[in-house]
Amino acid sequence: MTTENKTTENKKKKIKVIKIDVDKCNGCRACEVACSMFHATPQYSSNDPAKSRIKVIHEPLKDIFVPVLAGDISTAECSSRNKYVIDGKEHDECAFCRSSCPSRDLFKEPDSGLPLKCDTCEDDPTLEEPMCVQWCLSDALTYEEREEEGEEEEKPDKMEIGLESLVDQYGLEKIAGAVARMAQAD
Ligand code: SF4
Ligand code: SF4
Repeated sequence: MTTENKTTENKKKKIKVIKIDVDKCNGCRACEVACSMFHATPQYSSNDPAKSRIKVIHEPLKDIFVPVLAGDISTAECSSRNKYVIDGKEHDECAFCRSSCPSRDLFKEPDSGLPLKCDTCEDDPTLEEPMCVQWCLSDALTYEEREEEGEEEEKPDKMEIGLESLVDQYGLEKIAGAVARMAQAD
């Protein structure tokens, strides 16, 4: 076996996990505030939970709170749906879905309608823990890292993330307007 092959086999990638313990969530929404402040432009300049990449879904009858972190963007409505039954209560088909998609307003930037996605608070220097985890004082959110076999994905520049699909879905004019507003805020 060549040295090159050995190096490829031994490569590890870091997997970041935010563990959600629904039983410990009290619905305080500090996670939403912290996320929106961290991602404000400039950073920490404003606090608007509508721009948060984590949403706490409230189930009033059972009085439970379920934190949901924004996942990948879906540019089309999905052709299948999930239904959750928790403690005998059937929940809305899209209630716990992590995607920003055309079917609903969740995980969309309120001014521009652009999709929001959790980036685990990627920053330089790297945070010890994501902001939502740091501000969850009841430990409903906890953070773990582990290593798995495989190569790290090359991380695109923040402005490059999904730009092509955003332009496809929202049009160049809307994207350009949102970028101009961000530049003015700087
Ligand atoms: S900060 Fe923690 S306890 Fe408060 S709403 Fe968010 S997940 Fe729940
Ligand atoms: S990890 Fe960071 S980006 Fe993701 S929801 Fe928590 S605060 Fe927001």
